[in-house]
Amino acid sequence: MSKRSNSMKKLALHWKIIIGMILGIIIGFVAVIIDNRTGSESNTVKRIVIDYVKPFGTIFINGLKLIAVPLIVASLVKAISDMKDISKLSKLGGRTLITYIATTVVAVIIGMVLVNLIKPGEYIPLEIRESLSVQYQEAAQGKIDVALSQKETGPLQALIDLVPSNIFEAASENKNMLQVIFFAILFGIGIILSAPEKTKTVKDFFDNLNEVVLKIIDLIMIYSPLGVFALMASLVAENPDPGIFAGLGMYSLTLLLGLAIMIFGVYPLLVYLFTGKKYGFFFSGIGPAQLVAFTTSSSAATLPVTMERVEEHLGVKKEAASFILPIGATVNMDGTSCYQAVAAIFIAQAFDIDLSIGAQLGIILTATLASIGAAAVPSAGIIMLVIVLGQAGIPEAGIALIFAVDRPLDMCRTVVNVTGDAAVSMIVAKSTGQLGDPKVKDWDDHYNNENSATN
Ligand code: ASP
Repeated sequence: MSKRSNSMKKLALHWKIIIGMILGIIIGFVAVIIDNRTGSESNTVKRIVIDYVKPFGTIFINGLKLIAVPLIVASLVKAISDMKDISKLSKLGGRTLITYIATTVVAVIIGMVLVNLIKPGEYIPLEIRESLSVQYQEAAQGKIDVALSQKETGPLQALIDLVPSNIFEAASENKNMLQVIFFAILFGIGIILSAPEKTKTVKDFFDNLNEVVLKIIDLIMIYSPLGVFALMASLVAENPDPGIFAGLGMYSLTLLLGLAIMIFGVYPLLVYLFTGKKYGFFFSGIGPAQLVAFTTSSSAATLPVTMERVEEHLGVKKEAASFILPIGATVNMDGTSCYQAVAAIFIAQAFDIDLSIGAQLGIILTATLASIGAAAVPSAGIIMLVIVLGQAGIPEAGIALIFAVDRPLDMCRTVVNVTGDAAVSMIVAKSTGQLGDPKVKDWDDHYNNENSATN
C-alpha cells in the first residue's frame, strides 16, 4: 500500500515522455517562429536546436541500438532455454510455438495490408517527404545498393544470409540482427538438448544477463523523456510542417485499426472456432488483464494478472497456463509485430522509399522474428523496429518520426500482446485437454480430483 502511494506520488514515466514530447514540439516551433520573425537567413535559433539539442536525441537512438544485440541474445536464449521441460511438454510446446507464430504472422499481414491500403506516409506533404528523402538520400542509396546486389546473387541468398559464419562479426552490425537471432535460437536449443547439470552455469548466465539488460533498458527509459524532447525539438525545427503530425494521425489510426481487428476480430473468432467459447466470455475473462497491460505497457508486468485471469476465469489448467503464458509474454507479441510492419512501411512511405514485394516479404519475416526477440517491457518494440528498418534498408533515424505517438501506441499494442497470449493459451489447452469449466473457482483442485477419481 505504501509502495503504491509512493509510486503514485512520482510522475509516471509515460507522463514525463508526453511532457518531453510537448516541450520538444514547443521548442522546435519557437525556434522556427523566432527565425521567421527575425528573418534570420542563417536560421540561428534552429541551428542552436540542431547543434545543441538534437545530439541528445541521437544519443537516445544510439542507446537503443546499443542494447539491441544483448537484448536479443539474452531474451531469446532465456525464452528458449526456459523450455527445459520440452520433453515432458513437447506436444504442448510444439503446439504453443506454432500457434504463437501463426497469430504473429496474421498480425503482421493485417498491418501490412492496412498500411499499404491507407498509405499513411503519404499524408505527409510531398515537400516534407522530399526534404526528408534528400536528408536520408545516402541511406536510401544504401538500400538501393543492397537491392541491386541481392539481384546479382542467387534467389536463396536471404537464406544463406540467415546463417552467420562469424557471430562476432554478425553482432558488430545492427543490420545483421537476423543472424544474431538465428544464433540465439540455435544456442537456446543447444542448452535444451544438453544435460541440465552441465549447462546450469551457462543457463544462469543468460537468465542473469537478461535481468541486467532489462535494467539497462530501464536506465535508457529514464533518459527517454530528454531523448524524446530532443528528437521532437529537432524534428520540428528541421521540418516545421504540421503535415507531419497529420501524417502521424493517419499512421496511428492505421495501426489502431490493425490492433482493433486483432482484439475484436481475430482472437475472439479463433477462440470461438477452436474452443466454442463465446465473445462475452472471452472478454469478461481477460478484460482486467487488458487494462493492466494498457496502463503498464508491459506484458511481463501484466503476466501475474494474465495467469490469474486465464486460469480462474477462462478455465485453462494451471500446468498449461504456467507453461504457455510466460513463453507468450516473451515470444508472442502480435501487437508489436503488427506495429513493426505498419511503422516500417509508414517510415518508408514518408521517406519516399519504394519497397519491392521482396522487401515487404522480408519485413514480414523480420517483424515476426523481431517481435519474438522483443522483451516484454515498455518500448521494447521500438528498439526492435530499429532492426526491422535496418534489415529493410529504411533509414533507422526514421524512428524519430513516430516517437511522438509511440507511448500511447505501445500501451495499445501491449493489450494486443496480452490478449493474444490468453487466446493462444485457450486454444492450445483445448487441444491438449487442459481447458475446463471456469465457474469452478479452484480449477486445479477440481482437475486433480477428477483425475484421481478416474485413476
Ligand atoms: N511494451 C510491449 C510489451 O511489453 C512491447 C513493445 O514495446 O511492443 O508487450
